[in-house]
Amino acid sequence: MGYLYILYGFLILVAIGIILGVVLVFASKKFKVEEDPRIDAVEKMLPGANCGACGFPGCRGLAEGLVSGEVKKCSTCKVGKKDKHFDLIIEYMKAHPDKDGKTNVPTL
Ligand code: SF4
Repeated sequence: MGYLYILYGFLILVAIGIILGVVLVFASKKFKVEEDPRIDAVEKMLPGANCGACGFPGCRGLAEGLVSGEVKKCSTCKVGKKDKHFDLIIEYMKAHPDKDGKTNVPTL
């Protein structure tokens, strides 16, 4: 008889796990935050040192600033080089406007 309590307990835990899993999947789809794909692209063009010399906690922060237009100069990154990083970012931003067609092209 005692083993039935164990079985019931196990089944209840499995049911709770399944219900919570379904709720999490629903919530992740419902509340998903769409991020601008240009941020990933610009981040890859930055040096990737994550040194913080630009005033952001890492390269991703500066990439977000460049894409949003909050940061106007690529040279805010103290590690990057004009030929190797900044020219690529400027060309990319010229060619990839936001969904409203607006371009936030940074300068050197
Ligand atoms: S200064 Fe450049 S390399 Fe350093 S965190 Fe900022 S963007 Fe990255």
